[in-house]
Amino acid sequence: MRRTPTLACQSRNSGPQGGLAAASTLALTLAATSAGLAADSRPNILFIYSDDHAYQAISAYNDPRHLIDTPNIDRIAREGVRFDRCLVTNSLCGPARAALMTGKYSHLNGFYNNTNNRFDGSQVTFPKMLQKAGYQTAVVGKWHLESEPTGFDYWKILIGQGIYYNPPMILNGAPVGTHGYVTDIIADSAIDWLDHRDPSRPFLLMCHNKAPHRGWEPALRDLDWDKGRVYEAPETLFDDYSGRGEAEHSQDMMISRTMTALDVKLTVPGDLNPEQRRAWDAYYQPRNKAFYEANLSGQNLVRWKYQRYLHDYLGTVRAVDDSVGRLLKYLDEHGLAKNTIVVYSSDQGFFLGEHGWFDKRWIFEESLRAPLLVRWPGVTTPGTSEKAIVSNLDFGETFLDAAGVSPDSAMQGRSLVPLLKGQAPADWRKAFYYHYYEYPAWHRVLPHYGVVTDRYKLVHFYYNADYWELFDLKQDPHELQSVYGRSGYAEVQKELSAELARLRKELKEPDRDPPGVTGDQWFFQHGDSG
Ligand code: CA
Repeated sequence: MRRTPTLACQSRNSGPQGGLAAASTLALTLAATSAGLAADSRPNILFIYSDDHAYQAISAYNDPRHLIDTPNIDRIAREGVRFDRCLVTNSLCGPARAALMTGKYSHLNGFYNNTNNRFDGSQVTFPKMLQKAGYQTAVVGKWHLESEPTGFDYWKILIGQGIYYNPPMILNGAPVGTHGYVTDIIADSAIDWLDHRDPSRPFLLMCHNKAPHRGWEPALRDLDWDKGRVYEAPETLFDDYSGRGEAEHSQDMMISRTMTALDVKLTVPGDLNPEQRRAWDAYYQPRNKAFYEANLSGQNLVRWKYQRYLHDYLGTVRAVDDSVGRLLKYLDEHGLAKNTIVVYSSDQGFFLGEHGWFDKRWIFEESLRAPLLVRWPGVTTPGTSEKAIVSNLDFGETFLDAAGVSPDSAMQGRSLVPLLKGQAPADWRKAFYYHYYEYPAWHRVLPHYGVVTDRYKLVHFYYNADYWELFDLKQDPHELQSVYGRSGYAEVQKELSAELARLRKELKEPDRDPPGVTGDQWFFQHGDSG
């Protein structure tokens, strides 16, 4: 391992950009040396990204149900900024990741859905730009973009969605086996990479969890984590979708009718080895026996499934919180905490029983809003919160800004650095554009686009249906009643329509969606559920 600052100009990057990286790092090193500073004082970036982690399941967000304590994730909020309105461009795993990497909407990065898309890794991405600027770059865990990662010195990724137990992985192109629980393995891999990196150069480490994605298999140590707690149901668990249109009625993502025996652990997951299976069965078998004996039906059956769902989903969050604790401790113990930006986020939000649903996809709040917590010592004010509309589109430009690298002109986000300093620019976005495409896989959520402000949402369902909805979050925070077409909202509707048209034009949204993006000829591969 190189430890001498003068060697910092030697880039590990053997690609075509290596020379440039070396040159720019050399320049920085010389400048830093003449100023009597450390070799390269640019901040490290630790980006922790979970899959389907609802803000309702992070205690820093103060959900009224108080579903779980996440002390380690909360620490980032306590020592940094909590963003309360981080909205995603397209609420689905792959598309959210493509937007993160490129800073562009699906219609420009080409990744619309999880069923028939493959990320074009030759595009400009922020990790590539940081690598070119001399950063060491690594991604560990869930990737889910079909093509191999580009722009990373080191990548160790799950295959496809990944599995919870003993997941096979790919390390810089070569298959590797693992033994144990996925969240622990990802944290181990991240820490191992930190141990072996070049300490004279700043790093970008993207640590991407599989959890708490569907499958919802907790670590064996956490199977009895909630000691049989009964969770409060959301007000809308038995939503009948009145006051809304075809899409809400025809979806297939309900706890009542869509959840499978595997989802609720009446069937045993196939990824457990015999030893793991014994611990698993010791927890679930007696409880499943009691369930069958109770012979539940109707709303009682839905309530039971809701309880089992929350036990399992939140159980997987426990290990995520542990892994965040381990990473923060590593930074503390290695003198890295002060000069490392730590970000915790998720690829989108998730329904935890609201509207009777699980999964995501919709423009509605629980799906649209991702958690975002950022700690940057000396920049963020501890314990603050920010209500401005920000987006996964902004992450790349934020990291580039922090590293002193100019963004690519085609990127469509905006650096959050001023907001991290508590200085939101006067011209910060007041409206946000959203577009979801995937249909019918997996949950028959009809494609839609719309505009979102701090108070309103105007939505157009345009495929296999053609209608508009308007929600007033101040009057209707649970989004239960469209007020589209009501006389009292005529002016608001007109303004939002104009704003939607302006955004679609500014963001270069084509008038017609590309062929093959959606369609009833389902892609029967059944590869992924997002
Ligand atoms: Ca996801």
